[in-house]
Amino acid sequence: MIRVRDDLRALEGYHSAQVDVRVRLNTNESPEPPPPAFRDAVAAEVSRIDWHRYPDRAATELREAIAEAHGVDPAQVFAANGSNEVLQTVLLAYAGPGRTVATFEPTYQMHAQIARVTGATVVEGERAADFTLDPEEVIRVIETFQPDVVFLTSPNNPTGLVEPADRVRQLLEIAPGLVVVDEAYAQFADWSALDLVSEDRPLVVTRTFSKTWSMAGARLGYLIGPSWLVAELEKVVLPYHLDAFKQVAGRLALRFSDEMDDRVQQVVSERDRITTTLADMPVDVFPSGANFVLFRPTQGIERLSGHAVWQGLIDRSVLVRDCSSWPRLENCLRVTVGTPAENSEFLDALQIVLEGGEAGQPSNEIVGSEVAADGENS
Ligand SMILES: *Cc1c(COP(=O)(O)O)cnc(C)c1O
Repeated sequence: MIRVRDDLRALEGYHSAQVDVRVRLNTNESPEPPPPAFRDAVAAEVSRIDWHRYPDRAATELREAIAEAHGVDPAQVFAANGSNEVLQTVLLAYAGPGRTVATFEPTYQMHAQIARVTGATVVEGERAADFTLDPEEVIRVIETFQPDVVFLTSPNNPTGLVEPADRVRQLLEIAPGLVVVDEAYAQFADWSALDLVSEDRPLVVTRTFSKTWSMAGARLGYLIGPSWLVAELEKVVLPYHLDAFKQVAGRLALRFSDEMDDRVQQVVSERDRITTTLADMPVDVFPSGANFVLFRPTQGIERLSGHAVWQGLIDRSVLVRDCSSWPRLENCLRVTVGTPAENSEFLDALQIVLEGGEAGQPSNEIVGSEVAADGENS
């Protein structure tokens, strides 16, 4: 029998319950597709692709378009198949065996996961009980472990908290290695670390087309960082990793930033409606700067465990993310902001479940193992 690498045996792969429900609010996608004019533009350009040729290896036009959108140099842009691949490339180049990667938990699970797959050692700093970043804990982790790479996620997933600018600046001052700020949800928040990127600072900011840009199906993400760092990433990534189709789709999407802004505004106002409505229910709500809201049934009522609420919602054909068994997130559930109709359906269902309403049709009963495995990504 061949054996997988010893250090991989303890790792679990990516699991997420895929349940056939009417209202799917569990993976932080955009509730709206891109505008029809975008689809038409893509269809027209795709018909001109030279399918028998390898794509532009440097993704020149796509990177120029991204660079223009952010007012940076194209040499400061690195794009890949989803921001997860961007993160993987960064970690292959700057982490790996013998190196240390720091995260502040709870946060996006894939940072630690990908770091471990590259062979790096992961150290997990702890956030405060309200999930904010404690400056003293940051100093402790940095001074004790001298990590080669430090991750922040802003807004953080799954908590929704925006990392205050001074915390990021403080980290930059004391971090001995690379700082990665994962901004998968930046457009929903009121500040971005992009302004801090410069040629003489080891900072990269990652973005994705999966959330705000309504393009989870395309698998496209990028980072903005110093050009010398981007040059190192180019050595690590596989040749021609970005296919011709994706390069076209990403470049054209950026022409529709007004429509994207409209969708973001709609999501933000719906997010605020969800947060306000939840505040009147027996749940703790965490303030969110993203397109999702983390909440927790108020403690002390036995029958209302987070998982029971999750199941109650499933019984009403509403799927949210069950974080209740994740470390540090006991009883927590995360709901993605959907369309106004979906959000109303979620809120109505939650109200009934929390009031201990009659058991719904258990038509979507989930087996235990699947439930326990609901985790990791998105
Ligand atoms: C969803 C998410 C990503 C995912 O990105 P892809 O571009 O779809 O790979 C990255 N980071 C965070 C924090 C996310 O929540």
